[in-house]
Amino acid sequence: AGVRTVTVLGATGSIGDSTMDLLRGARGRYRVEALTANSNVEGLVKLAREFDARFVAVADASRFDELKNALAGTGIECGVGESAIIEAASRPADWLMAAVSGAAGLKPALAAVDRGTTIALANKECLVCAGDFFMQRAAKAGACILPADSEHNALFQALSSGNRDELTRVIITASGGPFRTWAAADIENATLAQALKHPNWSMGRKITIDSASMMNKGLEVIEAACLFALEPEEIDVLVHPQSIVHGMVEFSDRSVVAQLGTPDMRTPIAHCLGWPERIAGPAVKLDLASIGQLTFEAPDFARFPALRLAYDALRTGQGATTVYNAANEIAVAAFIAEKIRFGAIARLVEATMNGWVRAGNLAPLASADDAIAVDHNARNMAASLLPQIAA
Ligand code: NDP
Ligand code: MG
Repeated sequence: AGVRTVTVLGATGSIGDSTMDLLRGARGRYRVEALTANSNVEGLVKLAREFDARFVAVADASRFDELKNALAGTGIECGVGESAIIEAASRPADWLMAAVSGAAGLKPALAAVDRGTTIALANKECLVCAGDFFMQRAAKAGACILPADSEHNALFQALSSGNRDELTRVIITASGGPFRTWAAADIENATLAQALKHPNWSMGRKITIDSASMMNKGLEVIEAACLFALEPEEIDVLVHPQSIVHGMVEFSDRSVVAQLGTPDMRTPIAHCLGWPERIAGPAVKLDLASIGQLTFEAPDFARFPALRLAYDALRTGQGATTVYNAANEIAVAAFIAEKIRFGAIARLVEATMNGWVRAGNLAPLASADDAIAVDHNARNMAASLLPQIAA
């Protein structure tokens, strides 16, 4: 095979870091076209120089001079602002990693979709925000969407052992996060430091908070529904504290096919990067004998209401999952700013979803602009509900 060109959106983040590490290990097979970040100019320029990227983009427009100066004499082109991130996504490349965090990743991801390229999708919020529309647009453009999220990557791999119409159920696992065994009253008052202490995975801040509330698993239930066109009843969540089994698919004969791996994002990312072939992943092998036991338990919807709300949003449809995500982004930012208690995150999401339905705002999403408008309005509604939730 020839050299493949690759672009990484969100190159300076946790997923970006794992992706760049795999590219570093596969020198000669890949050439980097474009890399992007939000504001981390220093980290981005370091990567751009190391990988000899053609183009870099930073979303924060106030960093333009800093970026230009840092790239002086390198011949690397650059741009700032959302339009530059979209330009990075639009430039020809055979493979693109979508690893911006939050709904901000939607427009850039769609720009890549419209090129009909192969996209490793880590940015689950953009899928949840756009709903079915994202996958329809990908199908229309002939874009190949490879799930990079570990659970969905597991489902993608397990699905290849049967036909889609023989599938009866999918199961995604959840570590349960740092509060898996905590009483509801303690979860309510958990501190930022406690929420940021994930037992198994090392990830960006936002997704780490989402793992503690199980909002991450809620987003993933919606993500699975979009990616594989599943009904909410066909998606189960199973708490599995060791994070070794990532996802399972059940077929009509009751065969259950699972994918296993150490909790290291480089494995699902390597699957996406190599696909349809396999490339080298992390050095450490899965050692089940030393792990000894894999345990499973049912999720507790009462202590983790965010998970229940995801199923509610899916059943409601018509933009409800967009609202679910938007309200959560506001809630997580407020929790990080220490404006609300941990328990208030799910309450703000629920209040925003209810307010949205009561206001008669539900309507089908027919375009990216529809999704972005719902996202914008839901954020405003969540922000206006924030003071009473905080009280
Ligand atoms: P990080 O916060 O570590 O990184 C986010 C990346 O996106 C950074 O490069 C950041 O730039 C950039 N970015 C943030 N906001 C914007 C914006 N408004 N415009 C353009 N770029 C932006 O996040 P993660 O890597 O943890 O997660 C990325 C995505 O992958 C999320 O959607 C997450 O849910 C998903 N995911 C992550 C997993 C993980 O293990 N981390 C696992 C599965 C899915 P800068 O560095 O300048 O801030
Ligand atoms: Mg995941």
